[in-house]
Amino acid sequence: MSDRASFPIGEREALALLAAAAEARTRAYIPYSGFAVGAALLDAEGNVHPGCNIENAAYGPTNCAERTALFSAVAAGRPPRSFRAIAVTADTEEPVTPCGTCRQVLAELCAPDMPVVLGTIRGKWRVTTVAELLPGAFTSAQLEEDRSRKGGQKP
Ligand SMILES: [Zn+2]
Repeated sequence: MSDRASFPIGEREALALLAAAAEARTRAYIPYSGFAVGAALLDAEGNVHPGCNIENAAYGPTNCAERTALFSAVAAGRPPRSFRAIAVTADTEEPVTPCGTCRQVLAELCAPDMPVVLGTIRGKWRVTTVAELLPGAFTSAQLEEDRSRKGGQKP
C-alpha cells in the first residue's frame, strides 16, 4: 500500500473526517472485545455518516464500524459509489486497517479510487484507496460475465 491515493483528499478534510470517526467510536458497543472502532463516511453532498462497531454475544452478527457507516448511508438514501471518502480510527499504535469483509463491502459500495483515511486516536494517519485495500476484488462484473455466458438468464 502506498501512502498516496490516486484521488487525493486534503489534510483538512481528512482530519475533519477522522475527528468524526473518533466521535462515532465513543458509541461503539463492544462488551466482548473492548476494541472500539469509529468510522465516518463523507457523501457527495458533504454529509458525514458515522459508524461504530457493534458486537454480539453470538460473535457472527457483529458489525464493524466501516460497514455500519456504509450501510446506514445507503439506508439514508445515498447512492452506492457516490461517496467521497471514509475515515476509520481506533486506539492503536499504527493506523487501523479494515478487515477483509469490510474491504469487500467498500469494493462494492465505493469507487476504486475513493480515499480511505486510516488513523489512530493518537493522531497518526495515512491515506490509501479502496482498490489498494483489496486488489482483485470480486465484483458484479464477474457475475455479469457468467450471466452473459448463460444467455443473460438470472439463476
Ligand atoms: Zn470490518
